[in-house]
Amino acid sequence: MSDRHILTAVAWPYANGPRHIGHVSGFGVPSDVFSRFQRMNGNRVLMVSGTDEHGTPITVAADAEGVTPRQIADRNNRIIVDDLQSLGLSYDLFTRTTTANHAAVSQEIFLGLLKNGYVFPKTTLGAISPSTGRTLPDRYIEGTCPICGYDGARGDQCDNCGNQLDPTDLINPVSKINGETPKFVESEHYFLDLPASTRALGDWLATRKNWRSNVLNFSVNLLEDLKPRSYTRDIDWGVAVPLDGWRDRPDKRIYVWFDAVVGYLSASIEWARRSGDPEAWRQWWQSPESDAYYFMGKDNIVFHSEIWPAQLLGYNGEGDKGGSPGSLGRLNLPTEVVSSEFLTMEGRKFSSSRNVVIYVRDFLARYDADALRYFIAVAGPENQDTDFTWEQFRRRNNEELVAGWGNLVNRSVSMAAKNVGGIPTPGELTDADRALLATTSGAFGQVGELLSRNRQKAAIGEAMRVVSEANKYLSDQAPWKLKEDPARRDTVLHTALQAIKDCNALLTPFLPHSAQQVHELLGGDGVWSVAPEIHEVTDLDDGSPYPIITGPYDQGQAVWGSTPLAAPGTPLAPPTPIFTKLDESIVADEIRRLEEGGE
Ligand SMILES: [Zn+2]
Repeated sequence: MSDRHILTAVAWPYANGPRHIGHVSGFGVPSDVFSRFQRMNGNRVLMVSGTDEHGTPITVAADAEGVTPRQIADRNNRIIVDDLQSLGLSYDLFTRTTTANHAAVSQEIFLGLLKNGYVFPKTTLGAISPSTGRTLPDRYIEGTCPICGYDGARGDQCDNCGNQLDPTDLINPVSKINGETPKFVESEHYFLDLPASTRALGDWLATRKNWRSNVLNFSVNLLEDLKPRSYTRDIDWGVAVPLDGWRDRPDKRIYVWFDAVVGYLSASIEWARRSGDPEAWRQWWQSPESDAYYFMGKDNIVFHSEIWPAQLLGYNGEGDKGGSPGSLGRLNLPTEVVSSEFLTMEGRKFSSSRNVVIYVRDFLARYDADALRYFIAVAGPENQDTDFTWEQFRRRNNEELVAGWGNLVNRSVSMAAKNVGGIPTPGELTDADRALLATTSGAFGQVGELLSRNRQKAAIGEAMRVVSEANKYLSDQAPWKLKEDPARRDTVLHTALQAIKDCNALLTPFLPHSAQQVHELLGGDGVWSVAPEIHEVTDLDDGSPYPIITGPYDQGQAVWGSTPLAAPGTPLAPPTPIFTKLDESIVADEIRRLEEGGE
């Protein structure tokens, strides 16, 4: 047991639509497994995120529907909140980037960078419409991507290759409004001076241990070619630039990515303000003993190992230009950037526009959250791109969850309920009994060590190996053949139930919903693993309503280690199965759905 402060900073899902299972396999489930394990291990976790609601794609969606960007953001924020809560993701605060608190914190970071000289003004070329003379926002300019050749690239980014662009980069730019060729005139913007932080970024990366090697190598390689990047954009939807002459301009906002990463900090501050101790966030952000783990898919590494650390270094005054921390004080850099690879779907890349997709809510309408969480943990894209197939999902669900773990619980609790009516009284233990209990109670060391390093696939593999040992013990000891020797039968059943209690604790970070059910099947009362809750709140500063995810996670009984069963005689009821066996027909049904493009 330890008592560290650990920040779990989870990538912010973009609110231009519902999230699919590829998204939650990258940032969602791994960050929750980590947080639940750390809490069980006695650490003080603060897990924060929210919906990322600014930027061009949301304004494009709003234009297409004839509604405001805020309406698009409100709708998708609520869908995403529902999905993530249903998956059991235990955020201390899941909020959004359209809060007044977030705008204020984003502006404070910008001003701190400006004060220290890491943000500077620069005149660049901005697009105007030649026929009207008005500014053309980046999203209204389309052309050919200079990097991948895609025809529909926009003035701020290419949706095909994902690169950030400037309108002047586009080949054959045209206005989406009337097809005319935009005219480029001088326009003032602010830039983040990444070269001024290159040395400090390199020094910091050199101290990073235990990162996945591909993430660290990728991050170090980025340093070879750092250029200043535009901190402001020509767009009317986002956080205002907090300077006289800029604040009230409708056409200039802070770039969406540069406000989204500030969200980890602003959400921590919002959590503290809602907790009744507005300074409480400082324990996670300013203590040298605290740690911060950032979880994301690999397409976002650059923003977490380069841009956000550069913002923090500049705000702290720790780059080549020196300086001193802004009014919030010095802020900690990430301890580790934990990045997953990509999940593909039946051999195809997930794509909402091409309907190669399964949304979280559709998945959870037909299957249990723990079945998805299990698949992501045991077969997800932790270290390499991984294909989701319905056949493999069904097979792992049936062979490992239902026939492995579920059957161990079911047959042990059934026998105890039927023969004893409660937790049996154990007699003297044999070597076989002691060996099993040594295996299950001893597994916390190794599985915990793997989980603390985010080797989650190896961790659940080891936990399931222990489940197999317990199943083998039960088959070998065959308590159903011990009718003539009830004392020995009761000892075997007690040993099996204690092993199940240990296995349940080992699996709790991965399978929090079924862990609660197993806790109750073993005669436990109260809450073992705490489920996240949706609370309807109002903005702390402007009063507008929105839903958050939060929960009383310190009230769960789950701890990382072997804990004794309920007392002998505690009543046990015949169990209902905790996992659902999936029929062969679901595979063809789901592939047909995929080929028809959704429902
Ligand atoms: Zn491109």
